[in-house]
Order: sequence, then C-alpha cells, then structure tokens
Amino acid sequence: MNTQVILKNGREHSVEHRHPWIFSGAVDRTEGPVETGTTVEVRSSRGVLLGYGSYSPNSQIRVRMLEFGGRQEPDAGYVKSLTAAAISRRCLPDGSSPIAAAGRGTRLAHGESDALPGVVVDCYDGWCVTQFSSAGAERWKTAIAEALMENGAKGVYDRSDVDSRKREGLEEHRGNLAGAEPPETIEITENGMRFLVDVRNGHKTGFYLDQREARALVREHAAGRHALNCFSYTGGFGLACAAGGAKSVINLDLSRPALDLAERNFALTFPGGCPCETGFECADVFKQLRLYRDQGRKFGLIVLDPPKFADTKSQLMRAARGYKDINLLAMKLLEPGGILATFSCSGAMSAEFFDTICREAAFDAKRPFQIIGRTRQAADHPVSLDFPEGLYLKGTLLRAM
Ligand code: SAH
Repeated sequence: MNTQVILKNGREHSVEHRHPWIFSGAVDRTEGPVETGTTVEVRSSRGVLLGYGSYSPNSQIRVRMLEFGGRQEPDAGYVKSLTAAAISRRCLPDGSSPIAAAGRGTRLAHGESDALPGVVVDCYDGWCVTQFSSAGAERWKTAIAEALMENGAKGVYDRSDVDSRKREGLEEHRGNLAGAEPPETIEITENGMRFLVDVRNGHKTGFYLDQREARALVREHAAGRHALNCFSYTGGFGLACAAGGAKSVINLDLSRPALDLAERNFALTFPGGCPCETGFECADVFKQLRLYRDQGRKFGLIVLDPPKFADTKSQLMRAARGYKDINLLAMKLLEPGGILATFSCSGAMSAEFFDTICREAAFDAKRPFQIIGRTRQAADHPVSLDFPEGLYLKGTLLRAM
C-alpha cells in the first residue's frame, strides 16, 4: 500500500487549486514509510484522494505534487510522458523538435510550471543539461534522462550542484547521466549572436537562456550609445549592445573565466572584428561603479543583471539594499536620455517591491525616469497560472529624463 499524507482539516484548498507545494504546516500526519523522494498519496482530512506527490522529509515544502485528482499514480512511464510533453510544448513553428535544431539553446523543462517539480532541463545544440533540486526530482532522474535520449538528445549531463539540494538532504552531483559526454564548449546561436557554453563549469547549466528576450529588447535601444554591461557573465547583453549598433561596450564581471568566454563570444560573433570598441573588466560592480562615479564617467546605456541577492524572504531586506545601491550608482552615471536596463532574478522579490527599490534609488539620485519597457523570463521558462512563485526574473527599462 502507498504511503499516505493526510492534510489538516481545511488545508486541501491549495491542492484542489493545483498549487504544487504542500508545506509541512498543512500536513496532519503520514501513514506508511516516508523515504526521501517517495511517491505518496495526498488525502484530505476526510480521506478524499487529492492526487500524488513526492515526499521531502527534510524540507519545509514537504510534498511536491506530481498529479492532481488521483486518476493516475505516477510511475517512470508517467514521468517520461511529462518530459516528452514539456519538450513538445517547445516545438518550433514547423513542428520540429528543439533538441534536433542545430545551434539552438532552449529550456526544455521548467520545474513546477511544466508539471515537473524541481526539474530543470536546458538543451544546447542537442546536448541536455539537467538540474534536480528536490528529492522527488532526484528519484526520477533516470526516467527523465531516458526520455531525453528517446527524444533525440546527444547526451544528458547533470549539473545538480545547487544549494537548494541541501535543504532536501541531497548531495551535490555533477556528471554524465546518459549518452555521449558533452564537448568542452557547445556553440549556440541566439538572434545571430554566437555563444560558447561550458556546461561543466559554467553557472547554472552553463548559460542564461532566461534573458534571451531581454537581450533582444536591449539590442533595440543600443544604437549610438556607450554601453556598460554590469554582471556580464559570458557577454550576453554586451553582444546584444554591439549587435544593436552601440559605439562602445564594457563588460564587467568578477569572474575571469566568464570574461574569457565573453571575449571568445565577441570574436565568434564578429569574425571580422567587433564594430565597436570593447572592454572586458574583471572587477566588483559595487566598487567599479563608484570608481566611474569618481572619474566622472558617463554612459548612454547601462545593464544591471546581478545574481540572485535573495534566496528566501528573510534575506529580502539585505538584498533590497544591494539592489538599491547599484541602481542608484548606475542612475547617476547615465547621460541625459540614457537608459538603464535593470533586473532582479530573486524569486523572493516581487515585481512591485523591485519597482519600489528603483523608485527610491531614482529619488536619491535626484533624477526622474520613465519606464519604457518591461521584461520577464523568456517564454521557454513559463509560469504556471496556478504557481505565481514560478515568476522569478523581472526587468525594467528606464530612461533618464
Ligand atoms: N547577464 C548575464 C548573466 C549574469 S549572471 C547573461 O545575460 O548571460 C551574474 C554574473 O554576475 C555572474 O557572471 C557573476 O560572476 C557576476 N557577479 C556576481 N557578483 C558580482 C560582483 N559583485 N561584481 C561583478 N560581477 C559579479
């Protein structure tokens, strides 16, 4: 018999509304063995079967729902079909698979919002890279790797070296799961820009596919401007600025390997030489912006795409100070009419709160700004309507008046 998780009286509402998380406080009791990642039946206090989920004994999020309604008990075949469905939602307009598309970078599975809690799969030129961040996801990793191979993946490489696994009582893991070993770098193309992706050592799965649409928007505003790309990683926004006709681009990052790859990406994209002046500065953005301020430097376009400053709600106030600091500094460095493209990828920070921080920064900078654009994570990182927590990346384009 399956293990059962019985909810407290009145706590079935969110499961009935297809919210995928059951917090420990909603659980009345469990019946049967509860191992890490076990599939459990979720029942209301009156014993009604609400669906099936994966059990995480060490996490505040005690159960992640895999199936709602209790019509189908999840097994490996079911998880494989969920994986195949997520891939088919990313088919190209001609119906072909994103895995088969040469040089394409696509997120194939985006966790809860793709009905695959804790599972992220990114695909670069047919090479799949996985991240399993919950106990349930970890349990299904072989089935998911099989599904990816059956759908044409060249290989499946696991980058489950994420902090959140600790909260789930899981070890970090990095290595090949199925098929061939990926090459040292994989080349992908995004709107004509060429990027090398290092899936073994890069951040996350190797590349920030989530900013694809934001890079396209920034590119439209770059012509004739001196651009500063803060937190450049491998040069994504910097290349977008250069491709958009910027006069110059400085890429700024703390990571030397990321900047080295950025330089190679510029050379790949512009084999005849970059049409604008470029710089690759290994420095701390917080310090470098102050240095530019003291030097009286001005820019026509500044991109601020920092790493996640807040993982949880409790870190939010500290994170807010960090966001305000860099936004204030950048706002002061803009020429009249200059544009600030500013982002937050902290899921714990709401879009409204991020606006408030930008407003306070502008107040302190003593400059009025107009909002001329909004961005969010790219469409292959969808947000389930029932899971607003799935929206983590927010961006605003501001113009100094
Ligand atoms: N905009 C990038 C992604 C940025 S990821 C893209 O489109 O691909 C965040 C980057 O910030 C990482 O490369 C990390 O090395 C860098 N970083 C983190 N803290 C930093 C700091 N204080 N100063 C400069 N760079 C920093």
